[in-house]
Amino acid sequence: MDLGISGKRAMVCASSKGLGRGCAEALAAEGVHLVMNARGAEALEETASAIRAAHGVEVVTVAADITTEEGRAAVLAVAGDVDILVTNAGGPPPGMWTDWDRADFIAALDANMLTPIALMKALVPGMIDRGWGRVVNITSVSVKSPVAVLGLSNSARAGLTGYVAGTSRQVAGKGVIINNLLPGIHDTDRATALDGGVSKAQGISMAEARKNREATIPAGRYGTSAEFGAACAFLCSAHAGFIVGQNVLLDGGATNTTL
Ligand code: NAP
Repeated sequence: MDLGISGKRAMVCASSKGLGRGCAEALAAEGVHLVMNARGAEALEETASAIRAAHGVEVVTVAADITTEEGRAAVLAVAGDVDILVTNAGGPPPGMWTDWDRADFIAALDANMLTPIALMKALVPGMIDRGWGRVVNITSVSVKSPVAVLGLSNSARAGLTGYVAGTSRQVAGKGVIINNLLPGIHDTDRATALDGGVSKAQGISMAEARKNREATIPAGRYGTSAEFGAACAFLCSAHAGFIVGQNVLLDGGATNTTL
């Protein structure tokens, strides 16, 4: 299927690795030019070079922390007109409900709620002016089904989800389509870090921790960044104009719900 977005321009945040990289690669494979971002310049440049070589699209890179005002300003300054925005950042650390104080919540809200909102506020007006736009926010399965040790993520991402639910309906009539993608367990550095936490807490090997977590997923395995990116590219496509304000779960069936 031709996704109908060749020649468009996308900003993909936090995209040198993992799910963000999967989204950048899938968009580039459709002929979309990219503005890519991550904090570490080395991995960002390596990924950008690989994408340029594989897909022949223009890739601009900005090494910056997207969760800070200065970082966002740096990325937005070089981004120019953007048709597609994929918001992403690292997730908050795991812990116990008794661990977190106000500063921890403010940091989580800044990174995983207020950062995507600030980026939408900066870029959606231009999309409205041009009559076409797509936004995909990478959130988490924790929005549908809480992950107790990720209470900071549960809270911040729920806030973003509420904002998107209302805002997506205010801009859909202007040609701008906003949706959220909710990853369950995917095979990225983040998943390895969480496996490490389980391994330490339960005194088991990393391989055992992974096997145990895989056993909780009906698909019997972790998801891949390529699968995640393909879903993102479809939500950014010309064909996704009637999918508004949805929360699309990619979790191999792990969340046991009928709807
Ligand atoms: P990952 O493999 O650790 O990759 C994170 C990427 O984001 C890297 O390119 C990293 O590069 C960049 N990054 C992190 N913080 C950043 C920041 N403040 N500013 C700019 N770039 C930043 O993570 P992932 O697994 O792809 O996860 C992506 C998001 O999905 C996270 O919010 C995570 O919590 C969520 N999620 C993941 C899973 C999963 O199973 N993988 C499940 C549910 C939710 P630098 O470190 O160089 O900045």
